[in-house]
Amino acid sequence: MDNIPLEDQLVIDELVEFWQTNDEPRNLTAHIRGTLKQGCTSLTWFFAKVRDDLRTDKHSKYTASSVFEFRQFLEVEYRRLYQPCAERQQAEAQAKAEKERRARADFDALGKEMAKATTRAELVELGRKREKLAPYTGNKHVYENVCWCCHSRISSTIHARCLDCGWYICSSCGSCSHVCNKTYKSVFHDEAVDPFLPDFPDDI
Ligand SMILES: [Zn+2]
Ligand SMILES: [Zn+2]
Repeated sequence: MDNIPLEDQLVIDELVEFWQTNDEPRNLTAHIRGTLKQGCTSLTWFFAKVRDDLRTDKHSKYTASSVFEFRQFLEVEYRRLYQPCAERQQAEAQAKAEKERRARADFDALGKEMAKATTRAELVELGRKREKLAPYTGNKHVYENVCWCCHSRISSTIHARCLDCGWYICSSCGSCSHVCNKTYKSVFHDEAVDPFLPDFPDDI
């Protein structure tokens, strides 16, 4: 790393000030605690240790002969401690990107299956799988609508369209438009497909 983040630089500045004046800056502890959110506890612990040493007047532990030298000591320690944290964070970011890439590939593959699917059961099932994967893809999926029947959210980038009415099929209850829905529901709740079930309510 080349530049020290502002929050950390502030703590270093305040520790230098403390070292120089023997007067503890008022918000030093809060600022040290603030470095915790960067997820490098060894670093926060180091800052707190230096503060405690300065509080108990253990200046002799830091053999710096000048403000410049003391600052340099803090910055060198900082970089040494931060390095493994930075590497770990980078590895985590890479792993996350890889997971998202795989989720996107699966999501797209399901979309291709969806385009070929002909039965409502398949379309609902594929919509469900895509809905589950959506949050892991790293892509933003907008929910433009809610299902009139069960009020679940519907997204045009996730759910399948009904081949008959063209409405998006809810992956929670399997509804599309009011008209098509009647047929599907009975099939959906029985689990087994009834071969005598009419395709449209008009056929009844
Ligand atoms: Zn629904
Ligand atoms: Zn429909």
